[in-house]
Amino acid sequence: MCATCGCSDDAGVRVLEPGQGHGHGHGHGPGEHVHPPEPVTRTVLFEQDVLAKNDSLAERNRIWLSGRGIVAVNLMSSPGSGKTTLLERTVRELGDEVPVAVVEGDQETLLDAERVHATGTPVVQINTGAGCHLDAEMLARGLEVLDPVDGSVLFIENVGNLVCPALFDLGESARVVIMSVTEGPGKPLKYPHMFAATDLVLLNKIDLLPYVDFDVDEFTRDARSVNPGVRVLPVCATRGDGLAPWYAWLREVRGRTSAPVTP
Ligand code: MG
Repeated sequence: MCATCGCSDDAGVRVLEPGQGHGHGHGHGPGEHVHPPEPVTRTVLFEQDVLAKNDSLAERNRIWLSGRGIVAVNLMSSPGSGKTTLLERTVRELGDEVPVAVVEGDQETLLDAERVHATGTPVVQINTGAGCHLDAEMLARGLEVLDPVDGSVLFIENVGNLVCPALFDLGESARVVIMSVTEGPGKPLKYPHMFAATDLVLLNKIDLLPYVDFDVDEFTRDARSVNPGVRVLPVCATRGDGLAPWYAWLREVRGRTSAPVTP
């Protein structure tokens, strides 16, 4: 994975806020900046080193978030599945009920952060440069800037990629894979790590089912072959179909994992 594609080099990572040109960040966050590991000659050792360091930082994030009663939901998918559209709608419709905040991950641009910012939701954008995923250190840096309020639901929109994000624990409370019906069949079988690692699958763009060759039952069977019993919720983020069970699931996760916060 990352030892060969080069995405473990965090030299190009930036944390940005809409309306600001440059990242910054010292303050309330859980992580200390760390340097990438020394290169080693064997790829497998490099990967083990990277993942072990990430797991340690992810645990630090988890403790920091838990201490503030913040539920973090890691949204993962291919590019173009509709993550940002789903997020825009979700924060608009859920934001009156619970405090929400968003961390956006993309290689470049503030485009998604600006869309979320337009809803009035606190958001930071992490640009990963060459990186094809968010990692725990990047999230820690994002949290330093975002500083979400106690008791909030934090949505993390990972970089669009069905491979590496599955390997990197961020310290999140739950993982959600978003898949659109336009992506074609067989994805859970082709990318089993992603589908095995998720707590929920949202099958998006179901309004397009009459126009594409996609079998929902077959997809559900494939997803459950790598993740037995996983829930698959058909939704349409643009029209709002099927979002009530998604919100119910978020409330359930929040009720299960958020710690009581003392005012
Ligand atoms: Mg997006």
